[in-house]
Amino acid sequence: MPVQKSPTQGPESLPRRTFLANSAKAAACGILSASAATGWMLPAQARAERNAAKTGAASGPKARVVIVGGGYGGAIAAKYLKMAEPDVRVTLIERSPSYVSCPLSNEVLSGERDIDSLTFDYRGLTRRGVAVIGDEVSAIDPEQRYVRGTSGGRYNYDKLILSPGISFDYSPIAGMSEEVAATSIPHAWKAGAQTLLLRRQIEAMPNGGAVAIVAPPNPFRCPPGPYERAAQIALYLKHHKPKSKVLIFDAKDRFSKQALFEAGWKTHYGDMIEWVSAAGGGAIEAIDPKSRTLTGLVEDFQADVVNLIPHQRAAQIAITAGLTDDSGWCPVDQQTFESKMHPNIYVIGDAAIAGAMPKSGYAANSQGKVCAAAVAAAINGDTPPAPSYVNTCYSILAPEHGISVAAVYQLEEGAIVPVPGSGGLSPMDADARERAMEVQFALGWFRNITADMFT
Ligand code: FAD
Repeated sequence: MPVQKSPTQGPESLPRRTFLANSAKAAACGILSASAATGWMLPAQARAERNAAKTGAASGPKARVVIVGGGYGGAIAAKYLKMAEPDVRVTLIERSPSYVSCPLSNEVLSGERDIDSLTFDYRGLTRRGVAVIGDEVSAIDPEQRYVRGTSGGRYNYDKLILSPGISFDYSPIAGMSEEVAATSIPHAWKAGAQTLLLRRQIEAMPNGGAVAIVAPPNPFRCPPGPYERAAQIALYLKHHKPKSKVLIFDAKDRFSKQALFEAGWKTHYGDMIEWVSAAGGGAIEAIDPKSRTLTGLVEDFQADVVNLIPHQRAAQIAITAGLTDDSGWCPVDQQTFESKMHPNIYVIGDAAIAGAMPKSGYAANSQGKVCAAAVAAAINGDTPPAPSYVNTCYSILAPEHGISVAAVYQLEEGAIVPVPGSGGLSPMDADARERAMEVQFALGWFRNITADMFT
């Protein structure tokens, strides 16, 4: 039996003429045919209704949950909520028809893998009964409980989960802008076109040239990421342009897994990688994109390739919706991930302030599950279950050299803290076999977590 809808429910509230116009535009761009192949649909009434009807609810869904962002946090929250509560209508709104994983994207820079191996679609979630709608959410009304898409679609919710990731603040470094990043100084901190641009620049640089990585201040997405990136770029240079250098100009004086990274760099790349701390003059204030000259507190440096990773904050939609505080990130109840700014809105993943957890894909996955359980409890009028959270961050320094940092977390006086004695770092004195095994663990982790998200 078809589900009854309120007059304002979902994308179907889009005026018919607007919807048809959007559909026609999309078809002209080839988007509609891509949609059918990826499980990601434009705000299409038929698809949403079909998925909603699959819940089997005779008199409408038990509740409507809208999730914004189909990445490491949002895809998981959608899947696990639908598994726990088949009668809840779960709508995932994602602006892109496919998802490109940042984890392992540093290997695209070394040429160890191609970007297709990191690209996933939403058919798996659709098969599970999640309505995956292609739209970009531009506004949230926390009073009336709906979100608005740039397509004009309106999506009503009882509970809203946001996992929209990060945005960049270019202002602290004079000369940087979104346009400069897209065209000449790629950050490649969202995997995709900029990853490929950076790869091409590294391939085109001369032997004996220099790659400068500018690492951002805390907190930022993937704390070990810039240092793994230095190793992956050095891996390529070692074989193809061995007289070259990789310099890391850092806004910090310490970084994640530092001793393990420095030892691994030395083993595989000798003096090729050089790290400059903030105190040592690594903090960058300005860039001239044309000459690729960085201005630091102490001196200027001219590079052949610059990978400037900007300062970070929560994704724009979280800022627009008033979900961030002065830090630029979203304060949440760390047991449920419900926003401290607006009730019935939950924020997970990189955008959230999640106690001691780093901003990682694995952390977002763990938070997605905790949040799905909390939302299910709230829908049923139950108290949220006691949460447990987990994270491991692997870094691949060379084809047979992996390292990791791991922790299990618990809630203590409202804050996420590590469980004493859980996890830890790879041992400093691990032998070659153990380092090689950690690469296999990293690859296995990636296969498992992406299967968890997309199947
Ligand atoms: P994302 O995964 O970025 O997902 C956000 C989604 O929301 C995107 O698909 C985006 O299109 C969508 N979106 C945003 N705004 C809107 C809107 N308004 N409307 C509709 N859709 C929207 N983590 C690890 O655990 N292990 C690793 O080895 C690892 N390696 C990394 C290497 C690099 C180089 C980088 C940059 C990151 C790495 N990470 C790693 C970190 C990991 O990528 C992030 O922590 C993770 O992606 C965060 O998940 P998220 O759901 O918060 O955001």
